[in-house]
Amino acid sequence: MLVEKFSIPQISTGDMLRAAVREQTPMGLKAKECMDAGALVPDEVVIGIVRERLQQADCASGFILDGFPRTVPQADALKQTLVELGKELDSVISLEVDIEALVERLTGRRTCSACGKGFHLKFDPPAADGTCSACGGTLVQRDDDQEATIRNRMDVYHQQTAPLEDYYAQDGLLTAIDGMAEISSVQQQIVSALQAG
Ligand code: AMP
Repeated sequence: MLVEKFSIPQISTGDMLRAAVREQTPMGLKAKECMDAGALVPDEVVIGIVRERLQQADCASGFILDGFPRTVPQADALKQTLVELGKELDSVISLEVDIEALVERLTGRRTCSACGKGFHLKFDPPAADGTCSACGGTLVQRDDDQEATIRNRMDVYHQQTAPLEDYYAQDGLLTAIDGMAEISSVQQQIVSALQAG
């Protein structure tokens, strides 16, 4: 929704790491172990890929960071990179969702292996089981969307990522958004926060 509305790219470190895993690059092979365990990939790896990505031409008039930064050292490195590139963050969104709701959302998540479209077994099911309603591709589940791994990812979030709420609140950039509301309401709240930022 944000990519279309603002015509800027979504920079998802998770997507970039999953692409590296698929392509079996040396970085992908190393990252896979951490990802399958629900742990974080080392800071220097993700900092390197984001730094490179932000310098590409399509980021010139803005970008959405998704899943990055996830640790204080990553946030510090981002700050330094943005100074070097003469850019600034406008806004940081904290989407707040109950843990049990997150487990339900993530365990039911399926993605088309051909076109990347997302589905949910309960909230947005495909017309035919296991098949993408848009392109007919096969739907797959992320390896780290198993319940035990999801709960580990939540623990990692609380230990390593939650401190960023204070970090960005101190910078005056943070807006907390109720992620338990209807999808359209969550979208509206995010757009309002970005337009105010
Ligand atoms: P995501 O697609 O954002 O849920 O990320 C999936 C997995 O990729 C995470 O559980 C981590 O193992 C890894 N990952 C993605 N982004 C980062 C990041 N900023 N720092 C460290 N690991 C990351």
